[in-house]
Amino acid sequence: MARWYTSLRLNDGSRVVRWGLAEARELSAAAQVRAGATLDLLELEDRWGAHNYHPLPVVVANARGPWVYDVEGRRYLDCLSAYSAVNQGHCHPRILRALREQAERVTLTSRAYRNDQLPLFCRELAQLCGMEMVLPMNTGAEAVETAIKAARRWGYMRRGIPAGKAEILVCENNFHGRTTTIVGFSSDKGSREGFGPFTPGFRAIPHGSAEALEAAITPHTCAFLVEPVQCEAGVLIPPRGYLRDAARICRDREVLLMVDEIQTGLGRTGKLFACCHEDVQPDVYILGKALSGGFYPVSAVVSRRDVLGVFDPGSHGSTFGGNPLGCAVAREALRVLLDDRLADRAARLGSWFLERLRAIDHPDIVEVRGVGLIAGIELRCPARPYCERLQELGMLCKETHDHVIRIAPPLVVEREELDWALERLRAAFAR
Ligand SMILES: *Cc1c(COP(=O)(O)O)cnc(C)c1O
Repeated sequence: MARWYTSLRLNDGSRVVRWGLAEARELSAAAQVRAGATLDLLELEDRWGAHNYHPLPVVVANARGPWVYDVEGRRYLDCLSAYSAVNQGHCHPRILRALREQAERVTLTSRAYRNDQLPLFCRELAQLCGMEMVLPMNTGAEAVETAIKAARRWGYMRRGIPAGKAEILVCENNFHGRTTTIVGFSSDKGSREGFGPFTPGFRAIPHGSAEALEAAITPHTCAFLVEPVQCEAGVLIPPRGYLRDAARICRDREVLLMVDEIQTGLGRTGKLFACCHEDVQPDVYILGKALSGGFYPVSAVVSRRDVLGVFDPGSHGSTFGGNPLGCAVAREALRVLLDDRLADRAARLGSWFLERLRAIDHPDIVEVRGVGLIAGIELRCPARPYCERLQELGMLCKETHDHVIRIAPPLVVEREELDWALERLRAAFAR
């Protein structure tokens, strides 16, 4: 991979990322480095913004590659990557150029007209997935909603399920987004409480059990919606062969296998898609996050003609979905992923990293799980204090489900940077 940022050693002995003098100057000017700025901005946000998140107390002003810089000039290794939306690294220069160039041409036409980026985006993404059609949306949750609508209509039109009876199987502990329908089939109390009544037509089964899937299918089941790895639930990896068994069962029973690869897809787990680990071609891919390299919300449902063909004019849409700016950004983000061989990097660096992570011995650690460049350290105690300690040490990780530290750096991270992270982790777990 052509390296587009380089490390250098600072006089305090630490390493920092540099990407050319002009940009470094631009950065420090833009950052307006000021002691105390963090507190002011925390206060402002808490006063004027809704409190629907519990963020780490770090205010990011700039980022490049795997590194982010706060408003006071401190630097951190980003070990969350915006939930895998910045697999390509922050502000990748090629994607940035594509965004700038497209922004100067045309940004939004709505689908009332056509634009010259959408057809190319659809073809490129469909071919990458070995599929026939693409339906672009913006956020991940919208892509999930789109897949749900496609599956229901497919069930009525192609399978003859009686009107209003279609059922979709989902997994316990799933995370598919935050819309009312989606949280309605979540098993997480915090996501659901106070938001009902919910959309019917979903049933949850245990993740990782092909038998449970087989047993749950009825003549009204049109689809099975599943995350190949349950990242939000704490990086829960199903038994080997699960997806292959699920694919076989779904094929036999004429049920659509819809994989939510929004977080696991596009290189994160060491393959282009997590499904590829078991050579599974699902009926429906649901993609988002790294589809735009973190520049812009772009999501998509990718499937066969018999599935996405159920939509006719007027049956679904989005003002921004398939807009030329998003499409141009996503096209370049996908090319970067392939040209820089980021999935291979994730596989190679991931197994190296995971092996060393597992060697950290501490009574608070229950288990270390991972695949490619996503790892979860499950603790016996709340993970938040560890995340705050790691922040002090220059590493940003976010706890997931209270007891798990998730580590998922951008896939452009270098081995020596992971080594640096391991030193911090060992320090955080020093007894
Ligand atoms: C993030 C995520 C979503 C939702 O994506 P948004 O862009 O936040 O709406 C859905 N499914 C999975 C697996 C995700 O990780």
